[in-house]
Amino acid sequence: MRLALANACIGTGKTTDHVLPSPPGATSAQAREYDGLNEDGVLHWNTQPPNATNGFIPIWQAALEAAGVEIALGTHVDSIHRHTDGPDRLELRMGDGRSESTDAAFLAIPPPGLAQLLPASCDTIAEGFGHNRESLRTMLRDSVYEHLGMVWHFDSPLPTDLPLGGHNVRRGWHPILVQHAQYRPHLRRPATTVVLGSISLATDFRHHRLGTGTADHTPEELARILWEDERLVDPTLPEPADTVITGDSSATQIVHHGPLPIRAQSDEVYISTNLNGHAPYFTASLESAIQSGAAAAAAFDPGVERLPVGPAGPEPQHPWRG
Ligand SMILES: Cc1cc2nc3c(=O)[nH]c(=O)nc-3n(C[C@H](O)[C@H](O)[C@H](O)COP(=O)(O)OP(=O)(O)OC[C@H]3O[C@@H](n4cnc5c(N)ncnc54)[C@H](O)[C@@H]3O)c2cc1C
Repeated sequence: MRLALANACIGTGKTTDHVLPSPPGATSAQAREYDGLNEDGVLHWNTQPPNATNGFIPIWQAALEAAGVEIALGTHVDSIHRHTDGPDRLELRMGDGRSESTDAAFLAIPPPGLAQLLPASCDTIAEGFGHNRESLRTMLRDSVYEHLGMVWHFDSPLPTDLPLGGHNVRRGWHPILVQHAQYRPHLRRPATTVVLGSISLATDFRHHRLGTGTADHTPEELARILWEDERLVDPTLPEPADTVITGDSSATQIVHHGPLPIRAQSDEVYISTNLNGHAPYFTASLESAIQSGAAAAAAFDPGVERLPVGPAGPEPQHPWRG
């Protein structure tokens, strides 16, 4: 049996370009500390960058590969169709012209991706989640939470910690800046600490000094202005040694329309983001992404090994579904 994930990686985790491999010859206690697992084997996902050698991305990648999963990164899935060879098989059509046959597909992609993929798919799949193409587009447009991400790297620790969200979280463009001092052992010198920032490009907020909107600036200008704003409040803050724009990232927020069904009505196509409503979807978070992915796997096969996310609760009842 072949299964396909329309996405094989966590797109908006806190990755950084400046990570070190784990230290050679680490003792098991050091290694445990290094890979963010406590004695019970629980993953403390934010103790190191997810893309550090022992961060959750390589750990999960290794676990998937050990289970025989083939991971194809950078493979855009354009549409899904019923395969002509057999009644229940699916055909995934890729952006590069290739196609793959699968028994089931799990869509772990945020609303903008779904808004392209589902309407381009065959009728039973496009409309198999209880919406026609038009209402699906509206629903998905309203369900997106989209921010520009950026990372500032510093070659010395910050003299004073940033307050949660940064000094300007409550004014101007309301950016969110979070210092990740705990990444220090994992950063390649000269980087010693990082601050991660995100800002919405779709707001009417005006900058408190410049009077401009975020959409009036390039990403690089936004990064420069945002850090300048921090330094205007706390002049002891250093200039960054490097700034990386991580790009537009989107997550799911469920507003107005309620969730989508976890499975298409008559096809083995599953929504495996928190848009399926089987996770605490009031917040777009890695935790809800994990829980909703596990719920999609269980909906496909109740016997699948579940991630340690706690016992499955009763089936949620959604008033939107009638
Ligand atoms: C700016 C920002 C900051 C955040 N900060 C935090 C935080 O601090 N803590 C926290 O817990 N959560 C945070 N979140 C939320 C969290 O990142 C998301 O809820 C989570 O990443 C969702 O995981 P996902 O796997 O569903 O989707 P994503 O992580 O978005 O992954 C989707 C992937 O699908 C790929 N894709 C899209 N379309 C296709 C296609 N057609 N074919 C193939 N692949 C496709 C994308 O390239 C991407 O790699 C943040 C979100 C944003 C936007």
